[in-house]
Amino acid sequence: MLMNPLTGHDEVCTACAYCGWAVSFAKNTDDKITCARCGSTVKKQGKNAVAYVAAFSISAFMLFVPALLYPVLDISVSSLSSSATVLGSIRTLYEEGLGAVGFLVLLTSVIIPMSFLLSCFYISLAVLAGRKFPFFTAVLRLTNFFQEWHMADVFLVGILVSIVKLIDMSELTFDYGIYLLMFVCAFTAITEVYYDTLLFRLKAAVND
Ligand SMILES: [Zn+2]
Repeated sequence: MLMNPLTGHDEVCTACAYCGWAVSFAKNTDDKITCARCGSTVKKQGKNAVAYVAAFSISAFMLFVPALLYPVLDISVSSLSSSATVLGSIRTLYEEGLGAVGFLVLLTSVIIPMSFLLSCFYISLAVLAGRKFPFFTAVLRLTNFFQEWHMADVFLVGILVSIVKLIDMSELTFDYGIYLLMFVCAFTAITEVYYDTLLFRLKAAVND
């Protein structure tokens, strides 16, 4: 942290993650900061960003639970009908001897996305409360890790592709689960739009 003698404001000096160019800006600014050399975003805009992250992460998390339990689609072939839930399909993978695939799906489509949303909510709540919650920096680091590995949206695309493939062979009806999953993916995407490590770190430091 540096003090700018002209403005009297605390300034942050950091390097662009893409090209290494040194960028400095006022510590408490809410503006979006871009790199002067390559134009990539150094810090996202901060106005209401923390509140949006808190609201959308907890909404997505609360919708995630019914999205896992409600049937995603109902399949009818001649007189047989069956409905598939996310957790049920993971269990089927395990029963069919594809335990490793089932575990990977469980990890990337359920455990990591839910952990990402919870950790986002935790750090945004800490910033909103103006207090440094326990393990704040560790959770911030974990959030970045989860951000790279959550793939609930890939899972949703997978479901939609299999629906397109199956639609000629059987009668398919969408159930509540797929709509809930769509909302989960949309809210997670909005959370990601506003989530920024540097922004949260600076906001937390401002509140110290
Ligand atoms: Zn750059």
